[in-house]
Amino acid sequence: MSSSNLQIINSDCIIIGSGITGLIIATVLQRKGIKTIVLDKNSEIGGRLATRTISAENSIVGIFDCGIQYFSVDSPQFQVWVDDWLEHNVIKQWSRGFAQGKEDGKPRYCGINGMSGIAQHLAQDLDVRTDTKANEISYEKKWLVETQGDQQYQGDMLVMTSSIPESLSLLDASFIPLPLEERFSLEQIEYDRCITVLALLEKPSNIPAPGGMILENEYLAWLGDNHQKGISPYGYGVTLHGTADFSNYYWDSDDAEIAYKLVTAAADYLDSSVIKYEVHRWRYLSPKAFYNQPFLTLLELPLIMAGDAFVASTVEGAVTSAIAAGESIGQRYKV
Ligand SMILES: Cc1cc2nc3c(=O)[nH]c(=O)nc-3n(C[C@H](O)[C@H](O)[C@H](O)COP(=O)(O)OP(=O)(O)OC[C@H]3O[C@@H](n4cnc5c(N)ncnc54)[C@H](O)[C@@H]3O)c2cc1C
Repeated sequence: MSSSNLQIINSDCIIIGSGITGLIIATVLQRKGIKTIVLDKNSEIGGRLATRTISAENSIVGIFDCGIQYFSVDSPQFQVWVDDWLEHNVIKQWSRGFAQGKEDGKPRYCGINGMSGIAQHLAQDLDVRTDTKANEISYEKKWLVETQGDQQYQGDMLVMTSSIPESLSLLDASFIPLPLEERFSLEQIEYDRCITVLALLEKPSNIPAPGGMILENEYLAWLGDNHQKGISPYGYGVTLHGTADFSNYYWDSDDAEIAYKLVTAAADYLDSSVIKYEVHRWRYLSPKAFYNQPFLTLLELPLIMAGDAFVASTVEGAVTSAIAAGESIGQRYKV
């Protein structure tokens, strides 16, 4: 690449990660008149809010929630966002519990067009750049984020919403030290992994209504029938999540072996042959420990870190962290 093609794009705040945390922070800041650019290394927005499509012959198309399957609400501040998504037909209530035969009465929500619909709704008025990995960052009066392309991003404030190990390795690669105490706390945060199989079936599954099952099987943690859920009208698509033990043991196995093991373990519930499948490996499924504040901010540098690792390994945890981080950035900008 010739350096003459290099373009520097300015914003008030650069946010790394277009998962729910990054998108909520960008929305909060935009409402305060603070300009943001959100960067994501993936080709799709949403991070773990991921909806995927598998096409087969004869116009059979399976649409699958690949990451998070549903969420619930506890806090009034999260309820405000959820009410907005309900009002805009982005989400719907799927059930009131998945423990078989035992509904607990608490609403479980899902995206009407899949979970990634929440990310698309949030991103519609934001500047989000996909296929844009932050490779290196530097700070000299302003942040400069270098990516693999011809564009670099400059801003007063940097927000990292990538997983903690990814954020730490970006800081290390960029020779930006954190204070020892903060660094030590962040290093303690490890993540569970999850292997997911998306299976497009020949005929409807045998999974009981409403189409989601939490399992305590050696191999399987979850079965989600996307057809019953309503997001896959033209294909019987089932999402199978492996347990943490299964995912650790088979992480490096080939896709065919993984699919065979999980599909066989679920055979009674699938009750159909599989037309096509895909395997997805979630390296950062959920943090096993949490930072002791809703976000991390430094006095020395205009740097904020936020995400589910700061509150709880749920969408609500991520949103709680994002709202607190967004408000704090707003305050800092006023000074
Ligand atoms: C299989 C699975 C099941 C789940 N089940 C539930 C559930 O039942 N209920 C619930 O509430 N939650 C569930 N969750 C958790 C929930 O999805 C997460 O808590 C939430 O989505 C986290 O959002 P986030 O924005 O903090 O992180 P993420 O969504 O992970 O976003 C981080 C983003 O940063 C990007 N990124 C990383 N490094 C870089 C870089 N260098 N440059 C640019 N971009 C970068 C990544 O591509 C990613 O898009 C589940 C998650 C998974 C994977």
